[in-house]
Amino acid sequence: MSGQVQQTVLVVEDEEAFIDALVVGLQREGFGVEVARDGAEALSNFDKVDPDIVLLDVMLPKVSGTDVCREIRKKSQVPIIMVSAKGTEIDTVVGLEVGADDYIVKPYRIRELVARVRAALRRSTVGADGELGSSSGVTVGDISIDPDQHIVTVRGKLTKLPLKEFELLYVLMANAGRVMTRDTLIDRVWGSDYYGDTKTLDVHIKRLRSKVEVDPGSPVAILTIRGLGYKFERA
Ligand code: CA
Repeated sequence: MSGQVQQTVLVVEDEEAFIDALVVGLQREGFGVEVARDGAEALSNFDKVDPDIVLLDVMLPKVSGTDVCREIRKKSQVPIIMVSAKGTEIDTVVGLEVGADDYIVKPYRIRELVARVRAALRRSTVGADGELGSSSGVTVGDISIDPDQHIVTVRGKLTKLPLKEFELLYVLMANAGRVMTRDTLIDRVWGSDYYGDTKTLDVHIKRLRSKVEVDPGSPVAILTIRGLGYKFERA
């Protein structure tokens, strides 16, 4: 235990009741904890602390959580988990669009929060290692995609995909484990000036599932995240 490098969580939260529970809960799990009580403090502490992960409340005094997230993303790919109050789904969506990795809704169980923190830290480590290699190919479970050669392999079989389906699958797989909002996906695959039917995305997802899922009727790779978008499940 003592040989491990301690990871630091920057907790950005303005409600004292949550702060106390978080500090105790995270420290008990072996994390170092730094607290910022408003958005401005979050940004100055971020530079000082250089945290391994940021837990970011959406509703904050001075600078909002989404603006804090946007600012941090300009300089760092540190994992960010947004925390929102119940019923503020809009903020959650915006949070994911400005670059947050995950979100959790208050009130939450500390145990669930710690699980999310560990998952986000794991993903960031995997991502960092992956970037060291020059190839932009991605493999998740038994599915591989190589954008340089425009090749998709599903359970060992070469699978042909039309361009948009290929691009959509690539965006999803390159962000495996992350919820991708509908807007983000449409933006990345069809471009920000796309004003077509949003059903187009669902149709492409359906086609992709028929090609990559063992049972397209009960998908386990390309998951629908209700009210938000889609997620490629990390194997
Ligand atoms: Ca708050």
